[in-house]
Amino acid sequence: MQSNVTGTGGSIMKTKTIFVDIDETICFYEREIPLDGKKDYNTAIPNHTNIAKVNKLYEQGHMVVYWTARGSRSGIDWHDFTKKQLDSWGVKYHKLRCDKPYYDIFIEDRSKRIEEI
Ligand SMILES: [Mg+2]
Repeated sequence: MQSNVTGTGGSIMKTKTIFVDIDETICFYEREIPLDGKKDYNTAIPNHTNIAKVNKLYEQGHMVVYWTARGSRSGIDWHDFTKKQLDSWGVKYHKLRCDKPYYDIFIEDRSKRIEEI
């Protein structure tokens, strides 16, 4: 995560830029879908416990960017649909990016599973 130091009213707060996945992170599907399987995003069920965890980071002043691979293989633009979905679920965020590439495994040194937040 990229860190910034900002001062507000004499206090110094360290803020972070936090990228958050959507599917299987803040919403889930009734039946298990293989990693390379097609999801029907209309049937996504929000997980309000996980949404609240990320909303709290937003409220603490961090930059929250939702980053999804929706449409990365199909070429379908899911941005507006996803924005409406996030808004209807009460998700707080600064940006929604739909340019995450498709992958099977993400090896990264700064990532956390939602369970660790
Ligand atoms: Mg996911």
